[in-house]
This record gives sequence, structure tokens and C-alpha cells, in this order.
Amino acid sequence: MRLSRFHLHTTKETPADAELVSHKLMLRAGMIRKLASGLYTWSPLGLRVLRKVEAIVREEMNRAGAVELQLPTIQPKELWEETGRWEKFGNQLLKIRDRKEQEYCYSPTAEEAITDFARQELSSYKQLPVNFYQVQTKFRDEIRPRFGVMRAREFLMKDAYSFHLDEASLVAEYENMKAAYTRIFTRLGLEFRAVQADSGAIGGDASQEFHVIADSGEDALVFSTGSDYAANVEAAVAADPAPRAAASEELRKVETPTQKTCEDVAALMGIALLRTVKSVAVMTAENDFVLALVRGDHDVNEIKLAKVAGLADYRMASEVEIAEHLGSEPGFLGPLNPRKAIRVVADRDVAAMADFVVGANEKGFHIAGVNWGRDLPEPEVADIRNVVAGDRARDGGELKIARGIEVGHVFQLGRKYAEALKATVLDENGKAAVMAMGCYGIGVSRIVAAAIEQNHDAAGIVWPAAMAPWQAVVCMINPKQDAAVTAAAEALLAELQAAGIDAALDDRGLRPGAMFADMELIGIPHRIVVSERGLAAGTFEYRARSASEAENLDKAAILRKIAG
Ligand code: ATP
Ligand code: MG
Repeated sequence: MRLSRFHLHTTKETPADAELVSHKLMLRAGMIRKLASGLYTWSPLGLRVLRKVEAIVREEMNRAGAVELQLPTIQPKELWEETGRWEKFGNQLLKIRDRKEQEYCYSPTAEEAITDFARQELSSYKQLPVNFYQVQTKFRDEIRPRFGVMRAREFLMKDAYSFHLDEASLVAEYENMKAAYTRIFTRLGLEFRAVQADSGAIGGDASQEFHVIADSGEDALVFSTGSDYAANVEAAVAADPAPRAAASEELRKVETPTQKTCEDVAALMGIALLRTVKSVAVMTAENDFVLALVRGDHDVNEIKLAKVAGLADYRMASEVEIAEHLGSEPGFLGPLNPRKAIRVVADRDVAAMADFVVGANEKGFHIAGVNWGRDLPEPEVADIRNVVAGDRARDGGELKIARGIEVGHVFQLGRKYAEALKATVLDENGKAAVMAMGCYGIGVSRIVAAAIEQNHDAAGIVWPAAMAPWQAVVCMINPKQDAAVTAAAEALLAELQAAGIDAALDDRGLRPGAMFADMELIGIPHRIVVSERGLAAGTFEYRARSASEAENLDKAAILRKIAG
């Protein structure tokens, strides 16, 4: 490839609306251009990187025994109604109408479409297990598309779906996919971790996410110092709290005229925040009022709360509903003296508290010295809070928090979709059996941004070898248009390519400074300069992207450097 004929378009200016380094660098390198919110064009340069990621994903999926197919991106409403997700998927689902007023959606994921394929194609247990995958564009109408291709609306995903007769086979394939993902992210040269994810109603070890570790990551990941336990904060669990102490204080009303938060109340009273209790008022789908309690220094984990019986589709209570049940305005809520009988769900740590402080259900007041059993009935107890750094882990270690970017997700779906879509096969006894399913996603386009978050310096991108648009670029410095310099540069390019190195020639005629800055910005691992001066000395100037100095080497030495 000659860069004079390739469309390379870099800029020095940092784009104003880009927050993340990866977004800035992808724009400056000219890898992507925005068409509209969450919609990006991949330039020739960007696409080279995207295709390298895709190729590794394909190779490892194939190696793991998965088979590639391709599903349509536009899918009929009727199919999505069979699983109830036409409504349930919410506003992320982009709905479309055709000229006959038929409704469709643009696929945000493809469990429905693949299960429809499976129910037509698979009829006997002998065809199982099978794992189908595709690398296909997805669309999710994200509330806040941001960070460029990191959270786009249209993006490229590898999605795989496996079908099984029994759980044992599903578990085996799940492990097989985890191993394939580990190979993929290792080959891509990324620092990553597999963590336990929220597995919805299925529970257990049935879902794991793969995260690229980066401070800018949107997800908080929890690690234990006591074992290899790692989980997304959405799913992370701390150890049970120490047993409750005996009550030692009397109940007393405290005037808190303007103190509506636990922080303000604790500051006014001169007590530790962890002696206060936060009351969060929610409504069940059946419009029952529930008061969820967490310690003042903790936050409610929405996913955990939704797992409490009856709260699957809970929503926040309105001020009117709060007044009706508690007789107070927000800021002074608590479980004592409600206006109507209410259901109280206390976090494990709240249930273990004694002599604590809650809102009085009266404007301007809190109540201190509250004790379970004595002042309030024993509550319904559940783990409903986010863990925090420093929490005790269940293995006895300490929980630490790091940030990550979710680049992959493996999931044991069980029979949910196959049941809804009646996808059955005949088992060994000739009886119809609903198939068990697994699904396995990789954010192919997000990986490109995540890799840059992890690998960059002040000059630009520092690609891991497997992802670079070219392994090596021959930079030609030839202001006098000397034929010998051109011939030497072209010969070197041909030689690199013959050695199996993905190489290009920068023959754009830029001044050395501008040319080198471009190569650093777009992250080329190996730069080789051909110039009149070098030719006279019989050497080329070589510099690795990660090295601080260039060195003059002969051809053989350069080939050895690139081979690593
Ligand atoms: P997130 O929590 O980041 O919204 P998700 O859990 O909804 O992602 P999955 O349904 O698990 O995503 O999709 C599989 C993979 O697709 C994710 O692991 C992620 O890498 C990628 N992905 C999801 N949403 C986006 C998006 N808006 N832009 C780019 N990649 C995405
Ligand atoms: Mg996910």
C-alpha cells in the first residue's frame, strides 16, 4: 500500500466534543467520522483496524467449533412479540415501518431471529450441540450515545448462540466460549479480566463479562484480595455483616430543619454517616409501596433490588405516593410511623444496625436511637446495596474496585427463548424437548476504542501488534526526487511484504516531522526511514513506536526487530 493513494487524513487539533482519549485519538487519526449522533463512518484507516479485530474473532470462533451465518438486521415485529420483547426492550429498540405499514425493528441483538432459524433447522438431538455466530451490525437507540464508537447507536457485534439438549452440554459450551474469549483478548494484546455479571433470573455462575481494564471504563469491577473472585459491581456481593449489637439508646426525635440527606443529618448530629439509614420509596408493578433501606454511606443497587420478590419491575414512588403512604415529603422518610401499613426491605447491613437514625416522616425531623425488634418489627432482609471498596469479601479478603470497559459477555440463557418460540428437537426417546441455549457477544467496534484507552501516549495511539493498521511503514524522505531513494524504498516495502509483514510506504512527500507525527498518531509499531543520507551509509533509520530513540540498522537487523 502506498499512502499517497490511501486516504489518510489526520488533524492536530483536539476535537472539542470528545471527552475520552480514545475518541479524541480516533478522530485525530481520522479513523472515524461522525455522521449523526451515535452513527460513525469507519474511514479506510479505521476499517483496517476493525477488520483485524474481526479476523481474530472469526479465527478463534471457528477454532472453537462455532459456525458462521448471517441474520437480517431488519426483523419483523411479530417475531419479537413472541418473546414479549417488542415491548420489553423499551426505547433502545428502533422500530421501523415499511410501505405496507408492516412494523419491524433493527436488531439490537438476535436471540429471536436465531431461535426462529433453529426451530426451522433443528429437529433432532443428533444435530446438537451447535453454535451459530455472526459478525453483524446492531442498532440500539442508546439514551446517551457517547465516547465515539465506545457507546454508539450503530455498532459491530459478534454474537453467537448455542443450542443444546441438556444443561451439561450448555455448561461445556459456555466453558468452551470462555476459553475462546480468553484467546481472543490475549491475541489482541489487551489487559482484560473475566468477571461475574448479573445473570438475571438464572442465577449462579451463568453469566460473565470480559472487561478491558481502563480507568475511563464505565463499569466498576470488584476484586477480592482473598481469592480470584471478580465481579461487576452490579453483581458483586460482600460478606455478611457482623451480628447486630444490643440496643443502648432511647428513641428520640431530632430537629433537622433543612437536613434532607444522610450526610447533612450526620454532620448536624456529629455522628458517623454509617449510623444513618437512607430510605428509598419504590412501587411494585402492582402499585404496592415498598420502603428500601440502605446504610447512609451505601447506595441501592437497582439490579439487586429488582431481584427481591415482587420488585422485578419496580419504579420510584412519586411524591404523591410517598405522601399517601408515609405522610411526609422526601428528605425525611423512614420506616417508623407510616401513615399506611408498608412493606420494608432492609439491606443486610441495615438489618445488622442498632441505635440508628432514620427520617421521622415529618418535615424537619429525624429519629435517632432506633432499634429493630424494639421500635420496629424485624424487617425483610436482602442484599440490595452496591459493594464499596474496603468491604469484607465472602472469602475473608478485602474488596477492591477498578474500572473496566465491557467488551464481551457470555451467558447461559437456559430455555427462556426456546420455550417462548417453541424451538424443540426430538430427543433419544423420540420425545419433543425444548432446547437449552447460550449466547456469547463481543463488541467488535468497541474493542478498537477500548484498546486505545489502554494503549496510548502523548503522541498518539500505541497499537498492540495484532490491531495496528500496518505493522510497519517505510517513510521515504526524498525532496530531490532521487530515483535511487524511491527504488530503495519500494524494494524495502516489497521485501517486508514478502516476509509476511503487513507494510505500507509513506510516499506522500511530507516533511519528516509531519510524516513522523502522523505515524506516531496512528500508532504504527515499526517505522523505517529511507533517505539519501541513509542509503549512502548503507542503513535505514528504524524506530519502534514504543521506543524513545531511533537507531540506524541494516535490512536484516530491521527484519529481526519487526519479527520481535
Ligand atoms: P453495556 O452494558 O455496555 O450497555 P450490554 O451489556 O448492554 O452493554 P450486550 O448486550 O452484552 O451489551 O452486548 C454484547 C457486547 O456488545 C457488549 O459486551 C459490548 O462490548 C458491545 N456493546 C453493547 N452496546 C454497545 C454500544 N452501544 N456501542 C458499542 N458496543 C456495544
Ligand atoms: Mg452485557
